[in-house]
Amino acid sequence: MQVEFKNEPFTNFSLPENKKAFEEALAKVESELGREYDLIIGGERIKTEKKSRSINPSNKEQVIGIVSQADQALAEKAIQVAAQTFESWKAVPAEARSRYLYKAAAILRRRKHEFSAWLVKEAGKSWAEADADTAEAIDFMEYYGRQMDKLAQRHPLTRIPDEDNELYYIPLGVGIVIPPWNFPLAIMVGMTTAAIVAGNTVVLKPASTTPVIAAKFMEILEDAGVPAGVVNFVPGSGSEIGDFLVEHPLTRFISFTGSRDVGLRINELAAKHRPGQKWIKRLVAEMGGKDSIIVDNDCDLELAAQAIVTSAFGFSGQKCSACSRAIVHQDVYDQVLNRVVELTKQLTVGDVRNPEFFTGPVVDEKAYNKILEYIEIGKQEGKLMVGGEKGPDSGYFIMPTVFADVDPQARIMQEEIFGPVVAFTKARDFDHALEIANNTEYGLTGSVISRNRAHLEKARTEFHVGNLYFNRKCTGALVGVHPFGGFNMSGTDSKAGGPDYLLLFTQAKLVSEKL
Ligand code: GLU
Repeated sequence: MQVEFKNEPFTNFSLPENKKAFEEALAKVESELGREYDLIIGGERIKTEKKSRSINPSNKEQVIGIVSQADQALAEKAIQVAAQTFESWKAVPAEARSRYLYKAAAILRRRKHEFSAWLVKEAGKSWAEADADTAEAIDFMEYYGRQMDKLAQRHPLTRIPDEDNELYYIPLGVGIVIPPWNFPLAIMVGMTTAAIVAGNTVVLKPASTTPVIAAKFMEILEDAGVPAGVVNFVPGSGSEIGDFLVEHPLTRFISFTGSRDVGLRINELAAKHRPGQKWIKRLVAEMGGKDSIIVDNDCDLELAAQAIVTSAFGFSGQKCSACSRAIVHQDVYDQVLNRVVELTKQLTVGDVRNPEFFTGPVVDEKAYNKILEYIEIGKQEGKLMVGGEKGPDSGYFIMPTVFADVDPQARIMQEEIFGPVVAFTKARDFDHALEIANNTEYGLTGSVISRNRAHLEKARTEFHVGNLYFNRKCTGALVGVHPFGGFNMSGTDSKAGGPDYLLLFTQAKLVSEKL
């Protein structure tokens, strides 16, 4: 029997011993940069001609790793191997499958700083953000292991005389896992291990900008003894193998986290029946967000300003939970705006190898150009208060940016920017603020900063987001504590790190025996 689930604690880097241990981990990772990583299909390592270079976004000259790229023939092989392995993996008892996750979590815990150091180097996460990402990965495995143990227990059914009835949750089959680059460890680990602990096998296509972290995690699965073929590691470009994997008739489900447009495309492709396909494919998608913090007139203004700054600029705003809209009551608008500007000016931006920096770069050139374009649009749509420019040229740095007096329908208020940009808009009163908050096509996270109980209660029912927070930031959901996922264009309403997540990767079978 496992001990009760508890979240992995975050590391206190102000303690010299932790700081030293992290420096050592960074040095170890730096000594391993530039290595080659292969595909892994059925336990076999496969090198390909075509390779992609993963780059440190803080330092464009630095190659993190060189990663073989799958073509369609190899993607086909991965699906075939996953389909064969499913026949044996689904027969492994659920408790044994959970034990692989507990073992993998224990290994990751031992190598925690090393993995966080990879996150600093490959994703440009600050030490604290990297540490939280690794802690969340550990949490997902510990949590889903326990959830599987629960799901495998007997489920109470209405009894009738002379019959024995039982409900089982059985796996689906081969899943395609397409994780995002912004939580390249936590979300990738959560999506992959939820699928396999439920008895499915996986073809894992890591994010193109952060494949090395995923390759390192494959080492952990191997060390934990997860049988070959249960997770098949197939890096490759979306255009070359993405559609192919989704469309394949042996694909039973797709678990995707990423942008709205890619999610919608997958939804469309997955919906079409292909020759030889025996099921309706299931899609679990977590997509974008355009998340608001509402600031009421009766509230702790300092808390409001801190919540906006942390939620908007942590990891350079590259979270689908990030605050990109501050909707502030007219009575306190100037005060909150000025304080946010003041706090934003204090933020430090640079190569996050150095712990002094609060935030680092954005992930790659494409993101960098897109965010800079949105900043230009913002200059037309609002008043630039701070930021609005590039940081040092050595990496993809963009200064934290605040726009004021933006119309709620403006593009920077409606479109997901996924960068360090927050727009302020003024609300006449609380109802108006709620109306603005609900006017996007997304519905992921949101916060309300208020002391007014009636307003909080109103928001509780009317603010239509999957993760609604009161008097705190709108980022940083904890596994088991804040099951995470949103409504509308934010995805398929799933809740990662929640008690019903594993159901998405199973189907229920009822067996009734006449006695
Ligand atoms: N779960 C993360 C949070 O609460 C965000 C995940 C994401 O950006 O995809 O901040």
